[in-house]
Parts: sequence; structure tokens; C-alpha cells
Amino acid sequence: MRTIGHFIGGKTVDGGSGRTAPVYNPSTGEVQAEVALATKAEVEAAIANAAEAQPAWAATNPQRRARVMMKFVDLLNQNMDELANLLSSEHGKTVPDAKGDIQRGLEVAEFAIGVPHLMKGEFTDGAGPGIDMYSMRQALGVVAGITPFNFPAMIPMWKFAPAIACGNAFILKPSERDPSVPMRLAELMMEAGLPAGILNVVNGDKEAVDTVLTDRRIQAVGFVGSSDIAQYVYATAAAHGKRAQCFGGAKNHMIVMPDADMEQAANALIGAGYGSAGERCMAVSVAVPVGEATADKLMETLVPKVQALKVGLSSDPDADFGPLVTKAALDKVKAYVDTGVQEGAELVVDGRDFTMQGYENGFFMGGCLFDRVTSDMRIYKEEIFGPVLSVVRAKDYEDAVRLPNDHEYGNGVAIFTRDGDAARDFTSRINVGMVGVNVPIPVPLAYHTFGGWKRSGFGDMNQHGPDSVRFYTKTKTVTSRWPSGIKDNAEFVIPTMG
Ligand code: NAD
Repeated sequence: MRTIGHFIGGKTVDGGSGRTAPVYNPSTGEVQAEVALATKAEVEAAIANAAEAQPAWAATNPQRRARVMMKFVDLLNQNMDELANLLSSEHGKTVPDAKGDIQRGLEVAEFAIGVPHLMKGEFTDGAGPGIDMYSMRQALGVVAGITPFNFPAMIPMWKFAPAIACGNAFILKPSERDPSVPMRLAELMMEAGLPAGILNVVNGDKEAVDTVLTDRRIQAVGFVGSSDIAQYVYATAAAHGKRAQCFGGAKNHMIVMPDADMEQAANALIGAGYGSAGERCMAVSVAVPVGEATADKLMETLVPKVQALKVGLSSDPDADFGPLVTKAALDKVKAYVDTGVQEGAELVVDGRDFTMQGYENGFFMGGCLFDRVTSDMRIYKEEIFGPVLSVVRAKDYEDAVRLPNDHEYGNGVAIFTRDGDAARDFTSRINVGMVGVNVPIPVPLAYHTFGGWKRSGFGDMNQHGPDSVRFYTKTKTVTSRWPSGIKDNAEFVIPTMG
């Protein structure tokens, strides 16, 4: 059995805890590797290593740090196929979708090449007589990222690329369900010229996370995962004096106005609802047609498309989506579908009984479509994270706007319409962090920022874009006066420049 250890001090090391977790091949249901779960002492050793390496990295000129990122981007492109196959074999998403996962992380590494520009700070010449005032952005020191299973390439890169380009050392605690790509990313960073100790990967579970959250040498923690854990990480990190930005779960709505192109809206729902088996924080899981006539038209277009979805092995180039990540995830999603039926929603397409011939132990299910879901049902209120789309019929536009506004999650939302006025009103009033107008998955590009509202995001700064540089640096402001005068008289009044 293949074992996966940790990446510490510039090389892979075996785990020493004796505790492991299984890494599955979701298409076959077989365990393909065992990943080590780090002890407190192993995490502390990684932190010590990072703390020792970090000052020299911070003192390396920013352009040289950026060049490591340039080379890393090159290596990602050269190794794209190998990385995508590896990712797909542990996660279960299709290979083209795995390439998208890598590409969206690569773009943040590209953004990080420009970090020297964003770290420049501010300068005021002559803020007072003979006085200059300037601010600079400095690295925090050792920072950490705790990431989820569903984007094992993209989200680690969202975290470590800006942090490292800013001069920090990084401890990555990736998901124990698909750890191989994060380990490969660390190897590629070394190949790109990163000094040993600046990027460490410790595999593990709660014990590793709790060590990261409480160790005084860690200055900042970036987390992505489910909301309860996000809130726990946020509160624990803050209680231990750390910066934290923690992103959680989602229930993304797509409003379909009566004037929308129904074919276009239905296609958008198919891709955004069922792509990656619905295991995306920006997946659309609720469709909200406005008015009964719109709902009927939408269902007419949507149902045959859901029935025609092609579930396949993650390596099948023709599959629309592959298996879920684990048996536990599959059971949970199916249980939600059972709940929906019990709650009285109309299960129009039922994918629960789907099995893949020859791969009966794989974690597959077909697409499910519910109609007449209401806002008091659990399948509406909770994140299902599977290939299940719920249709909630809104009686009018105001009713439709109220749904995402009142929902506890606020990650993404979309409106499909031909009416600019409706779209404009919607984007202005909606209480959600990322909004699409005729775009079902409005994931902002690397040089903008990504973050949800309400229980989808804890903390005040978003991921990537300019916020990532603010998050991973601290501001130092210097007031300087040359050449003399200071020693003449003591000044007892607070200095003002007036
Ligand atoms: P998860 O919360 O189970 O795990 C996330 C990370 O936390 C993993 O590294 C895991 O090892 C660790 N962890 C799990 N339980 C823990 C505990 N009790 N104490 C400390 N650490 C713990 O999430 P997941 O299932 O890997 O990912 C799916 C979730 O992530 C979904 O809710 C999805 O919406 C969310 N997500 C959000 C975003 C976003 O940007 N908002 C992006 C991707 C995924």
C-alpha cells in the first residue's frame, strides 16, 4: 500500500504517528493509499523549520521571490496532465474539471508574480518640516492554510502563492481525503527555486489543525471548509492572537426571470448544479424560477437534460461528472434526498439507484432534481454538496430576492434575465458576496477577490487579489526627521503636522 507522509524542510518525510487515514479511488471504491496523520510534535517540528527559514526569505528581494512564482507557473503548465490525473484519481472529478481546478490556482500564482508592486506602501514627502512619513508592508512570519477536499489544487494555491510571494513561510494542512496534489505542488515549488522550509505540507486531522491554531509562532490562518469548522477555526485562531480568514459552506441560488432565455438558463443550471457532482462551494443548488409559467417552462427544459446527464469514471473523457469523494459523502447526499421526499418535495428525477456497471463499489449516484421545494425544508436550508438541484418556485421578483437574502449562507448567487434594470436592482440589493448576471458560477478572477458573506465567510478580508496581500502582510509606518532638532528639547504635546 502506498503511503503519503509530509513535506517538511524541502523534502518528503514519513509520518511517525502510526495514525493514518485511507485515501480512496472514488471510481472503484478501493483504498489506494494511506495518508499519515501528524502528531502535535510533528506539526511543531514543521513550524520550527519554517520559522528558521522565513527571515532569509523575507530578506530576499521581492523580485527574486516573484521569479520563483514565475518558474512555478511554468512547471504547473508543464506538469498539467500528470497533476490533473492525480487529482482526478483521488477526488473523483473528471480530468478536464481537474485541469480547471489547477488552472484557477495557477492564475493566483500568476497574480502573485505582481506582489512586489502591491507591497510598495505609501510615502509622504514633507509631512512636516523636514519630516517624511512612509509605510511599508512586511511579511507576518509563519502563516498557515487549512484546506478542503473539493479543490485540492486551487485552494492551497490561493493561500500559499500570495503568502509566500509576500515573504512568509507557509504551513499547509490539506484535506486528508486527497493529499497527493498538495504534496506535488510543494515539490514543484522547490523545483522552482523556493528555499527549503518556506512551504511545508503537514497531513493530518483535528490534532494537526489544533496545533496550528494554538502555536504562538503561527501569525495567520486561512481556512476553507464547512461553516461549523470555519467558525471554530476563526474563533480559536482569534483567541490565540492570530489573524484568521475562514470560508465556509454555501447554498447558491440562481434566479430565473420570466424573460430569461430558458435554454440558456437550463444549460447553466446543468453545468453549475451537477458539474463536479455538485461538490463545489459555488455550485448552484437552488433554482428559483419567478412565476408559475416560468417554473413550468424551466422544468420542461430542465428535466430531460438532468435525465440525460452522463455519470462516468473520473477518467472518462465523455463523463459530465464522476463519483463523489467518499462512501460517507455518498451516503450523506442520498440521505438528504430521502429527507426531501419525506418533507414533501417532488423528486422529479431520482438518481439514488444509479450504479456504474463493473464499478459497483464506486461512489456514484445520478443527478437528482426536486421541484416544489419550500424554504422551511431541510433540503433547502442545509448544504447537500452533491448532484442534487432544488427548484423553489417564487411567486414574484420580490419573493425571489427574499430567498437568498434570508438564507444563512451568502457565497454566490446569480440572476438570469434580459432586463438590465432587474439585474441592476438585484446586484445592488442582494445580501451575497459574489453575484452573477447571466453567469451561473461567478468566481472572480485572481486579481479580484473571492469571499462569501454571512455563514459563508468569517473574517473581514477575501481570498486572492489585493486582499490577500493585505492579509499576509502587516503595515509599518515610519515618521522620520533628518538631520537634527530632536535632541534639543523634549516635546510633551502629541505631535501634529498643522
Ligand atoms: P471540512 O470542513 O470537512 O474540512 C476542511 C478542513 O478542515 C480539512 O483540512 C479537514 O481536515 C479540517 N477539519 C475537518 N474537521 C475538523 C475538526 N473537527 N477540527 C479541525 N479541523 C477539521 O470540509 P470539506 O468537506 O473538506 O470541504 C467541503 C466544504 O468546504 C463545503 O462546505 C464547501 O462549501 C466548503 N468550501 C467552501 C469554499 C469557500 O470558498 N467558501 C470553497 C470550497 C469549499
